Amino acid sequence: MTLEPIKRADSELSQYRVQGEIPVPTLIGWLTLAAVPLLIFFAYRSSLRGDPLTPALLLAFAGLLAANGLVYLGIRHSMLQRRGFITIISALFTYLAVQAVEDGSAIIWLFAYPPIIFYISQARVGVIACSGGLAAVALLFSPLGDLVFDSPYSTSFRLTMLAVLAFEMSTCYVLDQSRRRSKLSLLKLAKEFEYAAKHDALTGLANRREVMIQLDGEYQRYLRNSRVFSVLLMDIDLFKSVNDNYGHHVGDEMIVLVATTLREQCRKVDTLARWGGEEYLVLLPETGIADAVHTANRIREAVGSKSVQADNRAIAATISVGVATISGSESVDRLLQRADEALYRAKTQGRNTVCDSGSAAA
Ligand code: GH3
Ligand code: MG
Ligand code: MG
Repeated sequence: MTLEPIKRADSELSQYRVQGEIPVPTLIGWLTLAAVPLLIFFAYRSSLRGDPLTPALLLAFAGLLAANGLVYLGIRHSMLQRRGFITIISALFTYLAVQAVEDGSAIIWLFAYPPIIFYISQARVGVIACSGGLAAVALLFSPLGDLVFDSPYSTSFRLTMLAVLAFEMSTCYVLDQSRRRSKLSLLKLAKEFEYAAKHDALTGLANRREVMIQLDGEYQRYLRNSRVFSVLLMDIDLFKSVNDNYGHHVGDEMIVLVATTLREQCRKVDTLARWGGEEYLVLLPETGIADAVHTANRIREAVGSKSVQADNRAIAATISVGVATISGSESVDRLLQRADEALYRAKTQGRNTVCDSGSAAA
C-alpha cells in the first residue's frame, strides 16, 4: 500500500466534491447546530449542581461555536470556518477531559473527535490532531496528570479509554484513507472520461465535438468584439492509396504525423482538431485571412517535408487546405461551408495547395 500519491493529492482532493459527498461547511454547520443546544443543556445541568465555572465555560464554547457559524454565514470563508471549528472543538474536548465534566463521563465525547477531524481536514492534520489528542489523554491519565489535575478516572477506565481511543483513531485513519483513495480514483476516472469525450484517440487532437464548442465560443467573442477568426480545413492528399498500397497502420502513422506537425506549427491558442478520417480543422483565433493563409502554407510545407516509413521506403505526405475567415453576420456553418468549398478547389487545382474562400489559389 503506497500512501505517497494520497499525500500529494490531499490538498487537491479537497478542492473537488464528488456527487453525494457532504460539503465540509455543511457538515460543520450541522455539527454546530447539534453542539450548541447540547452544550446549553449540559451547562444547565451543571448549574443545578451549584458549580458556577462549568456552566459559564460550556456556554462560552456554545457562544464561540455559534459565532463561528454566524461569521461563516456572513462572509462564506470556508477555511476560516474550518479552522475556527477545529480550534474550538479541540479546546472544548481538552476542557471536557481535564475538568472531568459530568462526573468524568464527558471525556467519552472524545470519541466524536477522530471521525470529525478526519472528515473536515486533510489526512495530515487528522493524524497530527489525533496523535496529539491521544498523547494529551495519556499524559492526563499518567501519574504526572494526577499531580496536576484532580482526575476521577479509575485505572481500568484509563486503560480501556486509551486502548479504545487508539483503536478508534486507527480505524478512522484507515477508513479515511480508503475514502480519499476512492475519491481520488473517481476524480481520475472523471478526468479520463472528460479527456476521452473531448479528444481523438489516435492523434490526441480535439475531436469534432470539442472544436465545435471552441468555434462557438470564438464566434460569440466575434459577435461581441468583432475580433475575426479563421479556420483551416485540411485533408491529406490521395490518402486512400496510402492505405491501399501500404496498409491501414501506415495510413494511421500518416494521420499521426500530420497531427504532430500541426502541433509543431501552431500557436498554443489555436485549436487543432481531427475533423474526420484524414481531415483536420484548425481554429485560429484573432487571425485575419492573410495570416491564416500564411499559417496554412507553413503547415502545408512542413507536412510536405516529412514522411512515414513503409517497405523500406519514405512515403511523403501532402495536404490540401481550405481557408476561411469569418465575416459579416454569417454563421459558423456557413464559414465551415466556405472552408470546405475552398478545400475542394485546392483539390481540383492539383492538391498540395492552399486556397482561401475568397480567391482561386493562394
Ligand atoms: P483526396 O486527395 O481527394 O482527399 O483523396 P483521398 O484518397 O485522400 O480521399 P478519400 O476520401 O477517397 O479517402 C479517405 C480515406 O481515408 C478513406 C478511408 O478508408 C481512410 N480513412 C478514414 N479514417 C481513417 C483512419 O482512421 N485510419 C486510416 N488508416 N484510414 C482512414
Ligand atoms: Mg477526405
Ligand atoms: Mg484525402
